[in-house]
Amino acid sequence: MSVKVAVVTGSNKGIGFAIVRGLCKRFDGDVYLTARDVGRGKKAVADLEKEGLKPHFHQLDVTQPKSIETFRDYLKEKYGGIDVLVNNAAIAFKADATEPVAVQAKETLFVNYFSLVSTCEILFPLLRKGARVVNVSSSAGHLSRIPSEALRNQLKDPNLTVEKLSALMQQFVDATVAGTHAAEWGNSTYVVSKVGVSALTRVQQRLLNDKGIIVNSVHPGYVDTDMTSHKGPLTIDEGASAPLYLALDAPDSVKGQYLWRDSKIVDW
Ligand code: NDP
Repeated sequence: MSVKVAVVTGSNKGIGFAIVRGLCKRFDGDVYLTARDVGRGKKAVADLEKEGLKPHFHQLDVTQPKSIETFRDYLKEKYGGIDVLVNNAAIAFKADATEPVAVQAKETLFVNYFSLVSTCEILFPLLRKGARVVNVSSSAGHLSRIPSEALRNQLKDPNLTVEKLSALMQQFVDATVAGTHAAEWGNSTYVVSKVGVSALTRVQQRLLNDKGIIVNSVHPGYVDTDMTSHKGPLTIDEGASAPLYLALDAPDSVKGQYLWRDSKIVDW
């Protein structure tokens, strides 16, 4: 039987790092810590090795299709598939960032939504039957965060496609250029990117249902990481617990759902 493999994007620090730590302890197979920067990634691997854990490393920049394709080819050749994929990599501008909202929207949507979509497009063909995908969203990814009822209805439409969703996300980016986004979309580029991730999860589950693949999104809690400027009260291991639950422990009946930190399904 082939060796199982788990992959975590953006895992050189923060919650992703702790997800790798947890997978190394409990996943029956090889665990890949990935990072866009090789130096930071290898340092993180060395830190886990000091704890007696044995993560593998591969470079992966989710914004670079070539980087994703190189990793895909490596995994295909070495393992023939993927069993767990945790889409964790993301960015957030700080509240006091001085970049214009249109710049923040373009970059945030590019990394958090569009690059997650392309990562999935490239890696999903490798998912084995029974594989689990965990999309790290946020409490900011709750549908109620979008002011416009018409938009909310489109985002939760059971016939939504990835193409339609991506067009909606692009509409938001365009609206920030025109300065017309606030009434319908609200003021947070991060919120829109994470609502996109949660909406995408539901579409992906529908597409992968007959392959026996499970996709969920999760809010890890408010965690002490660089992203929160270390204001979150939870440790990274506490933040990793709900993503790990979805990757390893949740019953197969939990699919296409949006969960919060206590591993409770939240009505999206
Ligand atoms: P951190 O900023 O601590 O870590 C983010 C990770 O993503 C880093 O490893 C970073 O790498 C990586 N990353 C960023 N861009 C890319 C890229 N282009 N390719 C590959 N990796 C990339 O954030 P957190 O650990 O706090 O967040 C992890 C996830 O949890 C995110 O999806 C976040 O939105 C979500 N989340 C976090 C919450 C919190 O309270 N912390 C709350 C709700 C959701 P590098 O070091 O190179 O920048």
